[in-house]
Amino acid sequence: MPIIDLHCDTIDRIYTEKSSLLTNEYHVDLDKLRTSDYAAQWFAIFIDTKTAKKTLMELAKEMYDYFMKELVQHGELIEFATNFEEYSRIRSKNKIAAFLSLEEGQIIDGNIENIKKLYDLGVRMMTLTWNYENDLAYPHSSHKGLTAFGKQVVEYLKAIPMLIDISHLSEASVKDIRSIYKRPIIASHCNSRAIYNHTRNLSDDMIRLVADSGGIMGINLYGLFLDGSEVSTINAICKHIEYIYQLGGEDILAFGTDFDGINCDLEVCNAGQMGKLIDALTKLYPQSFIDKLTYKNAERVIMENLS
Ligand SMILES: [Zn+2]
Repeated sequence: MPIIDLHCDTIDRIYTEKSSLLTNEYHVDLDKLRTSDYAAQWFAIFIDTKTAKKTLMELAKEMYDYFMKELVQHGELIEFATNFEEYSRIRSKNKIAAFLSLEEGQIIDGNIENIKKLYDLGVRMMTLTWNYENDLAYPHSSHKGLTAFGKQVVEYLKAIPMLIDISHLSEASVKDIRSIYKRPIIASHCNSRAIYNHTRNLSDDMIRLVADSGGIMGINLYGLFLDGSEVSTINAICKHIEYIYQLGGEDILAFGTDFDGINCDLEVCNAGQMGKLIDALTKLYPQSFIDKLTYKNAERVIMENLS
């Protein structure tokens, strides 16, 4: 069964360690993606702005170049996609589609022209913040919303267009985005705050807002966000899926595992083990529901918004 995962941090891992996308010791590599029959994986270019030792755009470009080199080297298994047409062509060749996102809006260094540069490289989704406040917005730990510059960025993202990922943002920022950005809103790797009260999870209002926009939420496998535990269990993942389904409907559900960005014991210990989770879900829901969760909702957003 095909899977589309909205978020992983594998680029950071392989770039830092100069390791291979084909096979590695992390959560995501091509062998593991093929084992679980992935249709597409969104890969994030993430930079921790407090520890970066280079200009952020320069570092982002280096990470991009490293990743592209890996994609070209393993072109018989995976190809880069920026829209639905490319995704469909790649799928028809029975290969995995790789989409690119940016995690941390500070990387654009206060310059909207840098969004265009990233767009031209193929980036099609971005978070405005990571866990720090920045030029654009306040993160999940804050009650404040977008800055004036952040509002300009959202207008620009609406126009190009690029998908906005509200993961890591404050509730006020998300509400500001909704009032400007009249497109589907993505929460690429977020769970429910009602099930486990962590600021990185979404409140009921935020989940409703994503659903009303026609957007999707990628379920995050991190134990700390599931139930505050050091262990990520299938049972805990299923509780979030059921709650989000009851509140937002089955068209909002997707996966955003956060693989290679999380370190805890995982019952679904890497991308190659996603079948275990899907088997458990198959006992609870009809096939039409499983299809929407695993790939069809994500595919719909790509089809309707990236052309
Ligand atoms: Zn993240």
